[in-house]
Amino acid sequence: MKYVSWTICLLGFLLYEGTCVKVKYDGDQVLKVTPQTPQQVQYLQELSVQWRLDLWKPDIVQDICPGGEAHIRVQSVYVQKMKENLVQQHIPFKIMIEDVQKLIDRSRVSLQSTGPISLENYDYTIYHPMNEIYEWMDLIKDKYNDVVTTHLLGHTYEEKPIYYFKMGWPSKESKKVVFLDCGIHAREWIAVAYCQWFIKEILARQQSDRLIKKLLRQVDFYVIPVLNIDGYVYTWTTERLWRKNRSPQNNGTCFGVDLNRNFEARWCTVGADADCESYVFCGPSAASELETKGVVKLFEEVKSNMLMYLSVHNYGKFILLPYGYTTNQSANHNEMVSIKSHVYILTFYTQN
Ligand SMILES: [Zn+2]
Repeated sequence: MKYVSWTICLLGFLLYEGTCVKVKYDGDQVLKVTPQTPQQVQYLQELSVQWRLDLWKPDIVQDICPGGEAHIRVQSVYVQKMKENLVQQHIPFKIMIEDVQKLIDRSRVSLQSTGPISLENYDYTIYHPMNEIYEWMDLIKDKYNDVVTTHLLGHTYEEKPIYYFKMGWPSKESKKVVFLDCGIHAREWIAVAYCQWFIKEILARQQSDRLIKKLLRQVDFYVIPVLNIDGYVYTWTTERLWRKNRSPQNNGTCFGVDLNRNFEARWCTVGADADCESYVFCGPSAASELETKGVVKLFEEVKSNMLMYLSVHNYGKFILLPYGYTTNQSANHNEMVSIKSHVYILTFYTQN
């Protein structure tokens, strides 16, 4: 079976006024650090692990390389010390974000009106809390019930239902599948907004756009708008930059598994951590988490028809190709590279 799998990373903070979170990031900074030598790389890698720095780019610590940029969120308590260390080691750096909290405070979020939402007034350019997204799912399902169905993928640890959309015209013939998940990382709100936008665009243009009309006859789109629902809710109530899910670990002494590190693909080898305090904690075993189990089960059902799997993330404008644990090329590497440019076009197309 051959399919193309990508991670799309969207740069993005939608800007807004005011949010309400308990954990604050006042004084945290994001530094752009460019180590020049293997020794400087090693130093930076060790520091990142030791201080649990929040690496935004590259995706994993092992991918920091000489001459490459590393974008690192440094907690306020370490900012001064970090800069001193970088100067001492002659590692060039610049401040990318002066104050992370100030940027967070400018995000554009739904004001969570008490009344029911409507599709006509649904604003796709702001972030929505989970209760509004659930309502939105219901409205979409009802309005476009001839071409879209919603299905239960499973439940989260906090017993919230995870739904996925199946979009496509019914057919007697077996159809190819394009699979998207969004919001596997809780804090990546723009990914969740992207999936809603994607679904809206496909459905709104299903009759007027010839390409989409044809696509819906030939392909079924499986879309999970929010996979890590517990984590997403937690980012709204408590900790904006939470990344993992919320399952208790290690007898309840810490919480959350990085779902993107929980799949059985060289599980917990490269770019993951077996320490449950880590933000890239891989979980106690492969597919230990309910969200992961749900994806694996659905994947098994449709994989023989799978054309492409896209996991939508944010930060940076990257298309990451599997497999991340090795620099060796996968069997269909050239195919993935050749199609990559079309994804850029599709992304652009759906955004305009
Ligand atoms: Zn992510």
